[in-house]
Amino acid sequence: MQGFVDYTMAKRSIVEGYKRGALDRHDICDAHPELVRAGRNIGAKVRRPCPVCQAESLRQVRYVFGDQLKHLSGRPVYPDDWDMELSSKFDEFRCYVIEVCLDCHWNHMAACYLMGRRFQAPSARTAGAGRTNP
Ligand SMILES: [Zn+2]
Repeated sequence: MQGFVDYTMAKRSIVEGYKRGALDRHDICDAHPELVRAGRNIGAKVRRPCPVCQAESLRQVRYVFGDQLKHLSGRPVYPDDWDMELSSKFDEFRCYVIEVCLDCHWNHMAACYLMGRRFQAPSARTAGAGRTNP
């Protein structure tokens, strides 16, 4: 993936700050109601407990941003392969992966990466890009 940034380290330091008592739960569990709703309705289940409250209700929601997307910028990716559809129509946009806990409302940007036609190698499509076609 192009321009992939992993925010695991940043997440770790925030969670450690909370466990040390340097950060209050209200400071870090501040998910916007829209994000919580998106997580509940369209979020992908995350197979690990919430780092703050340990509940098994972590969800991942992806959002797309980019000037070319115009009114579509800032929307959550739904259905699941909508980003692939956008990727075939637009040259470049950014995808943000946000994790949100439905219980305590902890939220965090897990990763972000670039998508779009610019980043699709022509050979990747014919080679199947690791996908198995029936
Ligand atoms: Zn939680």
